Amino acid sequence: MSYLRKCVSDVGGYVPGEQPVGGGYVRLNTNENPYPPSPRVIEALQTAVGPAITRYPQPTADRLRDKIAQVYGFAQEQIIVTNGMDELLGLLVRTFVEPDGTVLLTNPTYVLYETIVRLYGASTVSHELEADLSLPESIFNTADGRLMFLSRPNSPTGNMFDKERLAKLASGFDGVVAVDEAYVDFAEDNCLDLARENENVIVMRTFSKSFSLAGLRIGFGVANREIVAGLMKVKDSYNVNVLSQAAAIAALDDYEYMVECAGKVKRTRDRLTAELVSLGFDVPPSQANFVLATPDKYPLAARDVYLRLKERKILVRFLDVRGLDNSVRITVGTDEETDQLLAALKDLS
Ligand code: PMP
Repeated sequence: MSYLRKCVSDVGGYVPGEQPVGGGYVRLNTNENPYPPSPRVIEALQTAVGPAITRYPQPTADRLRDKIAQVYGFAQEQIIVTNGMDELLGLLVRTFVEPDGTVLLTNPTYVLYETIVRLYGASTVSHELEADLSLPESIFNTADGRLMFLSRPNSPTGNMFDKERLAKLASGFDGVVAVDEAYVDFAEDNCLDLARENENVIVMRTFSKSFSLAGLRIGFGVANREIVAGLMKVKDSYNVNVLSQAAAIAALDDYEYMVECAGKVKRTRDRLTAELVSLGFDVPPSQANFVLATPDKYPLAARDVYLRLKERKILVRFLDVRGLDNSVRITVGTDEETDQLLAALKDLS
């Protein structure tokens, strides 16, 4: 007899991208940044490793919130800092959704949204994106749900939803619209103004991608004060550790460094896209640090692309999610890593 809640035994669980233990892999499967964090982050970490780690961290990460407030133009009370954005996703569900409630999603999108909602016991209603990957008309005409997750740029497709349509969607929705901007520093614009102007919009960010700090687990959300106050009640007291808070402040102090690295990633992404297309893949234009590649005229199916690259110690992500069973998601690496990938793909074709 199982002691698990039914919703827990019913859910398969989220499967993160492979993290091989041995070295020697070209890792293009988890959308990390191929460049190191700012040297100022390393200095800040070295300074923070000392007596400070004997004490609990400041519970609401106020120095970091002040810094975020200053950099992005919000009040401190409009910001919540979390242990990676993933923690914030769970907090939103627990703060705004009744246990028998419904969360609205698009499909395809970040698979973890659905996993978190279902593990909580609530349900999801997914709206299929249009063939051109834009927001579906059906999502505008729904009364379901007190919470909606939208990823912009969308994962795993890499495209951006039209901002005006997203704003229209938010103003007509009777619940919280959570806009996931994990990849926004690789994109052309962002939705921070929607969080400023709409009382039901929260914009979510992470230090894992553009700031190269995936290992430290830092995310944040910006929204109106009431939303933030609700989330603060629900979060664990000491959800972001001393070292992570210090590192994130230092990363924001060297914002230009992040912009420079993101610029390199964007240039490599555009070259990777063009080369994949010439090899016979269909690749929607991406505004993220990854591309979604579907072997259209390329001779191998996506699963075989993944397996054969893995034999050569190059990891890409084979997603096998609804509607996307013949695509791989490829993280943009350095130029050298990209060259290795392209050479392997040429060789396999
Ligand atoms: N949203 C999306 C769309 C992501 O791809 C990821 C990273 N896998 C996250 C959120 C989570 O980011 P974090 O590392 O801050 O938990």
